[in-house]
Amino acid sequence: MKLYIIGAGPGDPDLITVKGLMHLQEADVVLYADSLVNEELIAKAKPSAEVLKTAGMHLEEMVNVMADRIRQGKKVVRVHTGDPAVYGAIMEQMVLLKQHEIGVEIVPGVSSVFAAAAAAQAELTIPDLTQTVILTRAEGRTPVPEFEKLRDLANHHCTIALFLSATLTKKVIKELIDAGWSKETPVAVVYKASWPDQKIVRSTLEHLDEDMRTNGIRKQAMILAGWALDQNIHDKNYRSKLYDKTFTHGFRRGMKE
Ligand code: SAH
Repeated sequence: MKLYIIGAGPGDPDLITVKGLMHLQEADVVLYADSLVNEELIAKAKPSAEVLKTAGMHLEEMVNVMADRIRQGKKVVRVHTGDPAVYGAIMEQMVLLKQHEIGVEIVPGVSSVFAAAAAAQAELTIPDLTQTVILTRAEGRTPVPEFEKLRDLANHHCTIALFLSATLTKKVIKELIDAGWSKETPVAVVYKASWPDQKIVRSTLEHLDEDMRTNGIRKQAMILAGWALDQNIHDKNYRSKLYDKTFTHGFRRGMKE
């Protein structure tokens, strides 16, 4: 007895995995968060499938419905936006399902962080510039643990991807500036990455708050900050060692210059 938890991807129905789609098409019961998952994707379920929107349900209600249908021998699929592992609140479902002696199988999805990077045509890890990406959120009503304050994370001067932070840009700017980031640091905001109404806003720490306001972006936005988002990066000639002709690695012997 198990529940299938599948990543829907960021919005474009073609960005689900082949495996995720297969489970969705086989499902007798589909649950999804209606504000975030594309209806066009849900429409790929069998016409006979029972489709339930979860936005109005609380956790116990949702788990009870899932457990009930699974016990009836039905295939139940819970569709999560992006990848279920980041801000997906799947653990609380798994804990309750376990009490019903129901396990899960999780199928990953394309997270909005990667859809946003693709839209911005960015590489988040530029050789000699940064080799690290931090996935986090600004602290709002949901507290962030003490050792994960944005200012402390920003001390690494790596690429920072901010989920759930579109209304908290003032705070984001302050924390990054306090960590010593320059006002000119590039920021790319991608609103509704991979949806037809996707919008890309190129800004800097200095202008981020105002640019978010002018563009009316208050939700469903990924904020990517750091010099890897520099639009002029092409002129700066950062090169990966992997393709450097003097670099030897497992698959290729380097040439002596
Ligand atoms: N599990 C999801 C994240 C869920 S939390 C994932 O992997 O993408 C919801 C947050 O994700 C939003 O506040 C926003 O920051 C981001 N997000 C989700 N879909 C997005 C999209 N299509 N474009 C930009 N950001 C998105």
